Amino acid sequence: MSKSRRECTHLNAVKAVSPTGDGCEECLAIGDSWVHLRLCRTCGHVGCCDDSKNRHARKHFLERKHPIISSFEPGEDWSWCFIDEIEVFPAAQRFPKLS
Ligand SMILES: [Zn+2]
Ligand SMILES: [Zn+2]
Ligand SMILES: [Zn+2]
Repeated sequence: MSKSRRECTHLNAVKAVSPTGDGCEECLAIGDSWVHLRLCRTCGHVGCCDDSKNRHARKHFLERKHPIISSFEPGEDWSWCFIDEIEVFPAAQRFPKLS
């Protein structure tokens, strides 16, 4: 059996976006905290990761069907597809630059 590496077919969902803020909007609205931040690459929504209790990045995907997020943590450079459940490479080179 050969190992086949799945490829994400949702890269057309990635747009040049501006982050909506520097924290999880929903957590800020309810005065809650988060562990890490994730950036939606379709609309710029900033939400908290799956290690955070509210998991707003995943909720955003479930509600809006925006499949690809990038880490919004300083120094981290990776992306993730919620549909394929795989890491998407390379984050910065293929995608419009985060700013
Ligand atoms: Zn995908
Ligand atoms: Zn949150
Ligand atoms: Zn989005």
